[in-house]
Amino acid sequence: MSEQEHRFKSGFETRAIHAGYEPDPTTGAVIPPIYATSTYKQDGVGGLRGGYEYSRSGNPTRTALEGALAAVEEGERGFAFASGLAAEDTILRSLTQPGDHIVIPDDAYGGTFRLVDKVARPWGLEHTPAPVHDVTKVAEAIRPGHTKLVWVETPTNPLLNVADIAAVANLAHAAGALLVVDNTFASPYLQQPLTLGADVVVHSTTKYVGGHSDVVGGAVVVKDLGLAERIGFHQNAMGAVPGPFDVFLTHRGLKTLGVRMDRHCDNAERIVDFLTAHPAVGDVIYPGLETHPGHEVAQRQMKRFGGIISFRAKGGLEHALQVCSRTEVFTLGESLGGVESLIEHPGKMTHASVAGTDLEVPADLIRLSVGIETADDLIADLERALD
Ligand code: PLP
Repeated sequence: MSEQEHRFKSGFETRAIHAGYEPDPTTGAVIPPIYATSTYKQDGVGGLRGGYEYSRSGNPTRTALEGALAAVEEGERGFAFASGLAAEDTILRSLTQPGDHIVIPDDAYGGTFRLVDKVARPWGLEHTPAPVHDVTKVAEAIRPGHTKLVWVETPTNPLLNVADIAAVANLAHAAGALLVVDNTFASPYLQQPLTLGADVVVHSTTKYVGGHSDVVGGAVVVKDLGLAERIGFHQNAMGAVPGPFDVFLTHRGLKTLGVRMDRHCDNAERIVDFLTAHPAVGDVIYPGLETHPGHEVAQRQMKRFGGIISFRAKGGLEHALQVCSRTEVFTLGESLGGVESLIEHPGKMTHASVAGTDLEVPADLIRLSVGIETADDLIADLERALD
């Protein structure tokens, strides 16, 4: 099957495994080799083989991953970066200029907020935080003609609020802005924002796409070729590209994304049932719960509801900290989306940088990244830690 056919006709898992790479014509290697080279021999000045001249501009290992990323997000072009934040920085500087304005989620990932507030704002980019699950509030935050990007995470980190991608895309477009969706939490298996009207998708591939907590990376995918040109220019000009070893790991992870995500979701659903019935647990936050305010939208735009659960400890901050340090199968640590289950306290860990701002998270909040271990073991572990 040709690359084009993989991209547009095949199912998700087939695209994740085959798109972006044909077995090597010389050796038949089924997996893209790790091209550990910074430069390429030219056949006479300007005589490039396959367009490769220098590995910041292009590297065949990276080209394969970028093709696969575009295919799983149903975009035209994918771009790989050294981290999720490098991908975000490249979007900001490709698509805005000093003096412009953007709208960001009022419970954005702390690092995204820090990038926008502490790096982009001094550079001259204004921002307004808005609850992206509330279309009216997003509309109020947009300054028509001045707002260049509406930036959405859905579900958000760590409160799992759900934005209606199609509705926010309409709003952004009517005001002349582009919609950027951080699809890290859902992963391309559960949600494909470009098919719902988004213009740019960004990922921390460190999470579900890589999937094994062994590599840091980021990705941008777009449909529009004009946008692709701008992102591609800045990817090369700013140079925050991943090396071929990291790219190899990320690509290997992407191939199993579908089966991993189904197990993440199965396990998360079992744990949600357990937590909602536990007397020491307050609110359980999971878009799959009918009581979740974003449930209906999530059901419409996501295949399933993901592997992240947040919940509040009835005993307050101290209890939450104790639970986080008592689990044995759940590892206490930042990050998410790997095969192993992680537990963390957002207020003191991932979201410490937003303490004292409007984005501060509740002190009794615990976030779980549910892995793909045996569900009974995960439940027994939480039971011990909560008692
Ligand atoms: N976006 C979200 C939703 C995240 O959770 C993270 C990291 O936790 C990032 C972006 C940043 O990605 P990275 O840590 O790969 O730079």
